[in-house]
Amino acid sequence: MRGQCDCGNVTVTIPELPSEMNACPCEFCSRVGARWGYFKRDTVQVDGKTDVYRRATRTIEFHRCSICGVVTHWHEPKGRLPHMGVQMLNFDRVVIAEIPIVIEP
Ligand SMILES: [Zn+2]
Ligand SMILES: [Zn+2]
Repeated sequence: MRGQCDCGNVTVTIPELPSEMNACPCEFCSRVGARWGYFKRDTVQVDGKTDVYRRATRTIEFHRCSICGVVTHWHEPKGRLPHMGVQMLNFDRVVIAEIPIVIEP
């Protein structure tokens, strides 16, 4: 299934719905209202130009649409993490409403 940012420039295709969404309570994720679904990196396709933010000294890249600025996903480009995070609020709200929310840093 496919989600997109507010303007449609960036699309994110996931293989299936996640079993839960993480409302990560860290400062960055709280500010952007994240509901992360976690997926193996090679199962997610992202199309469209994004800009990147690397928080503090961490190696994780947060991606946002280069036009509308909506956060779409994060990943760790050096590949140490096997998974990536997808902002599930960019998907159909009716569909994701059934997914339980967890809060884990
Ligand atoms: Zn956009
Ligand atoms: Zn966070």
